[in-house]
Amino acid sequence: MIIEYKDLIGSKTVGPVDVCIIGSGAGGATLAYYLAKAGYSVVVLEKGGYYPASELGRKEVYMLTRIQSPMIFTPATGEYTRVSLIAGQCYGGGTVASESVTWDFPEVVGRDWAKLGLKSFDFDANPKLSEYQKELNKLLSVKPVEMHHHNRCNQVLAIGAEREGIRWKSSDRPVEFCFRCGNCTQGCHYGVKKDAANTFLTWSHKFKTEVYCGAEVTSLKVNYATEGDYPYSEKLKKAQGAVKEDILRELKNQKKSAPAKFTVYAKMRDAKANAPRKGEPDYKNLTVHASNVILAAGPVGTSRILLKSRINPNGVVGKQFSTQPGSMNMALFPELEIRGWDGINDSTEIHHYCYIFRDEPYYDPSRHGFLCESALSLPWGMCNILPGVGKEHLELMRDLNHWAGIEVILKSDSYGRITEDDINFDISERDNEALLFATWVICRVFFRAGAKEICTGLPGLILKSPNQLDEIFRYRYPGAKRKGFMIKQANLYSGHHFGGAIMGIERESSFADETGECHDIKGLWVGDGSSFPTTVGVNCAMSIMFVARKTAEHFIEKVARAQ
Ligand SMILES: Cc1cc2nc3c(=O)[nH]c(=O)nc-3n(C[C@H](O)[C@H](O)[C@H](O)COP(=O)(O)OP(=O)(O)OC[C@H]3O[C@@H](n4cnc5c(N)ncnc54)[C@H](O)[C@@H]3O)c2cc1C
Ligand code: SF4
Repeated sequence: MIIEYKDLIGSKTVGPVDVCIIGSGAGGATLAYYLAKAGYSVVVLEKGGYYPASELGRKEVYMLTRIQSPMIFTPATGEYTRVSLIAGQCYGGGTVASESVTWDFPEVVGRDWAKLGLKSFDFDANPKLSEYQKELNKLLSVKPVEMHHHNRCNQVLAIGAEREGIRWKSSDRPVEFCFRCGNCTQGCHYGVKKDAANTFLTWSHKFKTEVYCGAEVTSLKVNYATEGDYPYSEKLKKAQGAVKEDILRELKNQKKSAPAKFTVYAKMRDAKANAPRKGEPDYKNLTVHASNVILAAGPVGTSRILLKSRINPNGVVGKQFSTQPGSMNMALFPELEIRGWDGINDSTEIHHYCYIFRDEPYYDPSRHGFLCESALSLPWGMCNILPGVGKEHLELMRDLNHWAGIEVILKSDSYGRITEDDINFDISERDNEALLFATWVICRVFFRAGAKEICTGLPGLILKSPNQLDEIFRYRYPGAKRKGFMIKQANLYSGHHFGGAIMGIERESSFADETGECHDIKGLWVGDGSSFPTTVGVNCAMSIMFVARKTAEHFIEKVARAQ
């Protein structure tokens, strides 16, 4: 059942339920389905609104301001970097606004995590992982885009890459019967994109899941612990005599008034209204009592809920934030009508320098580890990407139908920190080199495909001939101490975020264990990208669903064992 502001007569208290999931995106929706299917009572709280397929589609600015988070206007910044963070904010989260490019969770990343101590992510040692991946691909009908379905923008990438002799492929997408309207980022009007709204959330309703839309969680209270809870179970193991008596007394006193283990406080708003309706309160209070809470509000949302709730074991919350910065490069093909928004937006990718090939002899760890994807925007987006002001900008926009775009997605090794008000992030020297090299690769591909002019992702750097390619490595923005992207003016953005409540083996440096459950507070779980200790280097919605699928299995096992 979907419940919105209009369905609430006044404030409401729900529960006790078995599980309250905060956030309905890639992670939250997957967990809602698997846990509801396993017989648990599940309530999902989603800050954004509910948009059925009929309300989605080609309404560029309107849709972006409804299904995406306003976080884009508060970029992650550091000493010399500015990255605009984009994320979904609606029933289905980021998957509704996604271009649907799909990659399996990379096995090399699993091996890296196993080296960090998260042994259950080793594909060789844990055969269940391959089964989860197969199961998800089947459920979401993931398959490559057919060759004859690539539009001209995507053909430009393929042709240029072929001529350069570098590997490219058709993107995998979770779609059945695609109409190729090219509006994936405004949500699929035809309901054929297998985003989390059309799949896991819809399926979870069969098992009576309740999803509250417009419900922004403001805080979370941990109620009283029992003898079996962390850290009490551990304290009791070692305690003797008077110390043990003290702990038991403490627990007894706490248990007296414990209705359920967690209380989640949310404010229900009309997420679709620009302002409160006349005579209506701005919000209605919603309180949920639950035995377990799963945080799946995206790395920024999850960290901030914890920080605001003063739940920060060992001071780890908000740390190890990582993202996959990208930049957009545009090329002009005066003799070719590209119209990249007609047809599938993002159906080809250069994966030659991708992290998954890090064991290949040509792989250079100091500057490889990125994907290039064909991408283009509708007019408002193009205005934001194309440089210049006034007449100069208008001249570029006049050729709107002739621009093609390729973006970079970086397997970043940079880390930042999420606080209650800011996101602190700087790209590393290595990431800077990789972004410059990726820009160089993209420009070569464009020229090979016949481009006459390229507006690179480096502000002000426009190339009109392949002879100028070296300028990319010499690029220095006037007044900037460091070269290339390591400047705040660079147009970097990312929709792939991780960390803030990471998994790890040490309590001192991580929030959750490898099952996704908090080390220190039993029954508190992380189910979104927040738990990832590193980036994955590919489009990540499937990786988040994959880890959530694994977490669901651990949840079911652990809860069954405890009963
Ligand atoms: C425009 C765009 C295009 C993308 N394209 C692709 C792509 O082609 N392929 C791909 O693999 N990935 C893509 N991504 C990334 C992918 O969508 C995300 O990585 C993924 O959805 C993240 O999953 P998540 O569960 O961590 O968080 P999300 O899916 O972001 O879900 C978190 C949810 O929590 C809600 N929330 C936040 N705070 C609160 C709160 N306080 N209370 C209640 N709810 C809250 C949010 O509204 C949101 O709906 C794209 C992202 C964007 C924004
Ligand atoms: S391109 Fe296909 S999946 Fe994307 S919005 Fe259009 S019909 Fe839906």
